[in-house]
Amino acid sequence: MQGNFTVTLNCMFCDFPLQKKENQEFKSGDLIKCDNCTQDNDYNSLLDIAKEQGIELVKNEVKNELKNIFKKFGK
Ligand SMILES: [Zn+2]
Repeated sequence: MQGNFTVTLNCMFCDFPLQKKENQEFKSGDLIKCDNCTQDNDYNSLLDIAKEQGIELVKNEVKNELKNIFKKFGK
């Protein structure tokens, strides 16, 4: 299983990928302005969404892994 999952933070309003400015660290309670629609995104809410996306990615990965295992033993 590959342990590398990248989850990008997208704007909640227009789904535009949010870019971190140089030397900028997002922290809890921050508002991140979208470069595309200039809406402020609440970092905590974005994290919740990213977490859910991460879980979906892991679920799919596990499903594929199981399929491969069954293939090996299915002779
Ligand atoms: Zn936006």
